[in-house]
Amino acid sequence: MVINGIFDNKILLLLAGLGVLVSYPFVHQLFLAQKQPKLALFKSIENEDSVTNYVKEMNAQGSNLAQGLKEQLDIEFDIILQRLKEAFPLTPQAWHDTLTEFKRLKENDRLFLGKPLKAVKKGTKDDVPSVKKARELLVSYNINPAVINFELINDPNNASYAFAGQCVLNGKVEHYLRLNLAQLPNQTPAIQEALLRHEIMHLCNYDPLICDCIEKLFAHHGISAKEFWGNDYFRALNKHMEYRADLMASVHDIATAKALMEGFQEHMKRYDDRVESKTHPSCKQRYAAVDNLVQYMKAEKNLITA
Ligand SMILES: [Zn+2]
Repeated sequence: MVINGIFDNKILLLLAGLGVLVSYPFVHQLFLAQKQPKLALFKSIENEDSVTNYVKEMNAQGSNLAQGLKEQLDIEFDIILQRLKEAFPLTPQAWHDTLTEFKRLKENDRLFLGKPLKAVKKGTKDDVPSVKKARELLVSYNINPAVINFELINDPNNASYAFAGQCVLNGKVEHYLRLNLAQLPNQTPAIQEALLRHEIMHLCNYDPLICDCIEKLFAHHGISAKEFWGNDYFRALNKHMEYRADLMASVHDIATAKALMEGFQEHMKRYDDRVESKTHPSCKQRYAAVDNLVQYMKAEKNLITA
């Protein structure tokens, strides 16, 4: 979920882990119409042999599932972004400048400067178990936890477990992880870890930052939030980022993927999955996509251990 101004003065965009949920397969219909993906992540897998053959082919080319997945998701992202640009034909220079600035911010950012984890002081925010876990996971992705601003909330009325946020302050990217202590710690340790990996993937992919850049561009050209949120491609871009965070978190290992799927099931027991969201695919859709990825991961594991 992308939300403006949740922290302070409307400068932050946040992506909710599992906030409001909906069913909306538009993004993948779009992708399928453009290019047949090699990984059938968004339609049910009918032929197990095709999964094994695909993984074999990839291994033979010296690639692995994580790489292949990332490449395909990036192609999909570019297609949706291109459609969004066509839907809002500002001057080519305006889009170019925005995307160049996004690239510059990313390149000059200090997110991936892994440093050893310092011992935390007792009684500080870093000593809270959910924060401790998040910090350990950040280090495992080569991210220095010192560059992450942790925000803790305790809101049982908020269905979200965690949010990732990025904004620009003094020409530099600021990163945030906001944890809802009324929800996250109530999940099993495995689900908590999977949800945190999902949020970390949003940071790694700079999802909140690209949303921030695009929304600023729209605002500059007098395009209202109502107008851009009413656009299929803008919503598709947001939903794509959710799938991408799920799948990239899950590709870590089968246990993470299964924990995320369990998290979706638990969420569906508590909240209505039929309410449409502008930002998130439904839990059912997310579950299906991760479930399909698991079939590929199993095929890869079998080939490696055979
Ligand atoms: Zn998310």
